[in-house]
Amino acid sequence: MLQLSHVSKLFHPGSPDEKIALIDVNLHLEPGDFVTVIGSNGAGKSTLMNMISGVIKPDAGEVCIDGVDISHFPEFKRSRWIGRVFQDPMAGTAPHMTIEENLAMAYSRGKRRGLRFGVGAKQRALFKSELSRLGIGLENRLQAKVGTLSGGERQALSLLMATFTEPQILLLDEHTAALDPARAELVTQLTRDIVSKLHLTTLMVTHNMEQAIRLGNRLIMMDGGRIILDVNGAKKRDLTMERLIGEFERISGHKLSDDRVVLGG
Ligand code: ADP
Repeated sequence: MLQLSHVSKLFHPGSPDEKIALIDVNLHLEPGDFVTVIGSNGAGKSTLMNMISGVIKPDAGEVCIDGVDISHFPEFKRSRWIGRVFQDPMAGTAPHMTIEENLAMAYSRGKRRGLRFGVGAKQRALFKSELSRLGIGLENRLQAKVGTLSGGERQALSLLMATFTEPQILLLDEHTAALDPARAELVTQLTRDIVSKLHLTTLMVTHNMEQAIRLGNRLIMMDGGRIILDVNGAKKRDLTMERLIGEFERISGHKLSDDRVVLGG
């Protein structure tokens, strides 16, 4: 499904500001994999997500989906495969537009589903039924400006919009980090439901180790632009916080307290 082979990225190569973002990263995801991604600041997590979604291109290596090398496909061309939700609740939506207009925008990015004639009764009914699945009453607020929604409501909407292009892959970029614990839990629950219902292959960056352990069938840890730990199957199910902290400190060579990694919920 998704395969990164020998992917490397340097920023400002050859200058005093040179930054290694990814070094020879190999990652293969099976359909339906739900992978949590952890690592300290500067480990390369955002670069990995940007590389998959097409915001940046690799200096070396390939990004393939179903055997097609998409390394040099622009971002918009990848939206048929990839949906993304960002940390900032403002990032995935247009706040000055209504919920309906935002959904129409996402909908018309989907396969063969232009909305040249505006939103009709059929689409409105679809939007309402999709919104009602979120279970937070947004289906009754189609004409509300997205800027008036709470952060949690907006992230739930972003999640729905990210699935409107019927992607196979969902990238979640610390999408609950800016929310208070109750809203973060709500969005996490929605994420689980949507991912399992649509059988999406998911990569979720989180700074919350408890969340990284609890969610998904696989966990990867990054450090210095490399994947330094990859845990799946029974080992992932049996993973504890103590074991993960121990592995993190042993492999990375630095103390967890040095990093912006949150231990609890
Ligand atoms: P993380 O998301 O794990 O915090 P990043 O992928 O953002 O890590 O960063 C990896 C490395 O690449 C860091 O050293 C960072 O400073 C550098 N980097 C990331 N983006 C840029 C950029 N646009 N320009 C220059 N350096 C960058």
